[in-house]
Order: sequence, then C-alpha cells, then structure tokens
Amino acid sequence: MYFVANWKMFGSIKSVNSLKKVISYSKIKKRKLNIIYCPPYTLIKSFLDKTKNSNIKIGAQDCHSHSKYGPFTGAVSSKMIKDLGCEFVIIGHSETRTINNNKKINLKIQAALSEKLNVIFCIGEKLIEKKNNKTKSVLKKQLLEGLKNINNLNNIIIAYEPVWSIGSGIIPTQNDLTKNIKFIKDTLKISKNNTKSKILYGGSVNPKNIKNLMRINNINGFLIGGASTNEKIFIDIMKKSIN
Ligand code: PEP
Repeated sequence: MYFVANWKMFGSIKSVNSLKKVISYSKIKKRKLNIIYCPPYTLIKSFLDKTKNSNIKIGAQDCHSHSKYGPFTGAVSSKMIKDLGCEFVIIGHSETRTINNNKKINLKIQAALSEKLNVIFCIGEKLIEKKNNKTKSVLKKQLLEGLKNINNLNNIIIAYEPVWSIGSGIIPTQNDLTKNIKFIKDTLKISKNNTKSKILYGGSVNPKNIKNLMRINNINGFLIGGASTNEKIFIDIMKKSIN
C-alpha cells in the first residue's frame, strides 16, 4: 500500500522533527508500506536529509512543463527536483488545476518522466460535474488528455481525488468509489492496454474512514493531505489500514 503525504503549503523548518515517529514506524512495517512525503519545495532538502536512512521516499508537489532550465521566474523543473534527490512528483492536483489545463498537465508529466521521476497523476471531478452525472466523462478526458503520447505507464501512479472530497471531511460512497476506480482501470486498459497501474484514492482520508476505504477493490493506497501533517494521525491511519 502507498501512503502519500501531501503537505501542500504547510510546514516550517522545524516540522522535519515531526517525521521521527513515522521513520521508526516505517522501519518496522517496511514490507507493507510505501511512504512518500511531498513537502513544499522549501522543505524538500531537509526532508531528504532526515529520511536518508529510511525507506521513506520524497516527492515534490508540482513541476514546470519545461524539464530543464529556463527563464521561468518562480518555477521549478523536473530536472531540479530530480537533482535534489526526489523520486516522485505530484502532477495535476486539483489545487494546481486552476492554472493548468489537461494539455499543460500532459507536458508536465512528460517533463517529469524524461527526468526519470515517478509521477503521481491526480484526476477527479468537481461537485457540479458529479451532480450533472459528468464524473465518467471528466475522468476519461483527464486521463486521455493527461496521458496523451505516453504509452509506458510504469512510472505513473494514478490518484483519484474527487475535488469535493478534498479537505471537506466527505468521502464518496463505497459504491461510487468502487465504480469510479473500476472506470479508471477500464479506461487505462482500453486506451493504453494497461492493467498494472496503481490507483490511489485521495480526499479526506482519516483514521475513522480508513477501514471502510480499505474494503474498496483495487485501491493501492492513499494520497493524504491534512491528516498527513500530524504524525500521530498519519501513523494511526497506516496502522488501521493493516490491522
Ligand atoms: C489532497 O490534498 O490531496 C488531499 C487529499 O487532501 P485532504 O486529505 O486534506 O482531503
């Protein structure tokens, strides 16, 4: 199971100390858990140093569509992220989709893959789209346009994150989630002849709902925002997922 901690724009230099218990926990449960921390750019180096002797991996939360160097003020490229020592990058998170369309996201994924980063590719429908029965068409469009010209999905993990569930405390029904994960799997099979991609769920995962979420077929892990910034709660989620 994958447990990806998306810290968004949270954390100070001192927050690195809050990894201690997770590092010890990851060592005991090594075989079952893939823990990936995605802190803001400013903390990546200290997170990398702190987790050096553990099996915790580090990722960035986004990258530019140009893979190398260039005159793009405020931007960070996949080459720079790789150079730091990261192995992962989140692309297409709904909080970044306000300034990135599917085409841009596709270019970012290609840029990340060209630097041999693993991509956590986020997709998900908005509440209005769900209400209008557009979930499947939105997911299909995001998948097909986001993965255009990409045939090898070995280094891509899909994260299904309904936008209305992020930070709201509300999660999809078991039935809806099962259906949507199956739809994502089927779409990848038909369009990319791919049956192996890992699929994560993201949106208000917490210690109370993790056991129910673990019952959903074909979920390979979770992308966790708010709850991942508190190490006690993050560990609690992981513990409940295996017990
Ligand atoms: C996220 O930001 O990807 C996320 C899932 O957030 P939260 O867990 O806080 O809903």
